Amino acid sequence: MASISKSSHRRGKHPAAKGTETRLGLVRRARRINRTLAKTYPDAHAELDFSNPLELLVATALSAQTTDVRVNQVTPALFAKYPTAEAYAVANQAEVEEIIRSTGFFRSKAANLIGLGQKLVSDYGGEVPVALEDLVTLPGVGRKTAHVVRGNAFGLPGLTVDTHFQRLVKRLMFTQETDPVKIEHAAGELLEKREWTMFSHRIIFHGRRVCHARKPACGVCPIAFDCPSFGAGPINPEEAAALVKGAEREHILRMAGFEEPGLEEASE
Ligand code: SF4
Repeated sequence: MASISKSSHRRGKHPAAKGTETRLGLVRRARRINRTLAKTYPDAHAELDFSNPLELLVATALSAQTTDVRVNQVTPALFAKYPTAEAYAVANQAEVEEIIRSTGFFRSKAANLIGLGQKLVSDYGGEVPVALEDLVTLPGVGRKTAHVVRGNAFGLPGLTVDTHFQRLVKRLMFTQETDPVKIEHAAGELLEKREWTMFSHRIIFHGRRVCHARKPACGVCPIAFDCPSFGAGPINPEEAAALVKGAEREHILRMAGFEEPGLEEASE
């Protein structure tokens, strides 16, 4: 992997930042970033807890405007009480609201879950459909949710364009598009189809742990060498290291070649 110190010599000089990057250069860079992120986050996965397509569909619908951690706190009780589409279809709205209250927008989310159950029962025999065009007909289900379900519950390639993905794709200058569907298509053209689902997870992991919205940890970012926005956040390694979050923190810092005082001793 290229070192971060090299990138500090070319702030604002990256061909993508200067507008001189070729299409082939962009494709190669996107795939290199994917490979580096694969090494950085070998355990990248959907952070919502689920054991079947219906549970993932419900959890993803609940995750709008809240965190996966908060959704994971309410879903055990929800899944236990409503194990099937039929159970949601005949659920009492106030009882659903009570369980999912802490996820925010609980009235509309509860109404969507009941509508979801009814639609699954009336149109799909109580089963979650696989086709994208069917999934997006369900209440509260957009392309993002549909791709999450297809990619993670059915093993079909899908790019999940959430807020992290949009921010990172912009910083990495993969596309100038701002519409999520156009971003999805533009990013999809850069990567092998079989990589789409895992690339989404890796980018979202990176957005949550390193490339934060307000202060990205550029100084210890493993993909800094390939990022035309290097310098959007602190480039001083000590300052940047303090911004890195998550259980993978030590691994991320090692990937970036940053030796935190005490890190070596602590891991021995
Ligand atoms: S943390 Fe900085 S260098 Fe890394 S991807 Fe984000 S903007 Fe680029």
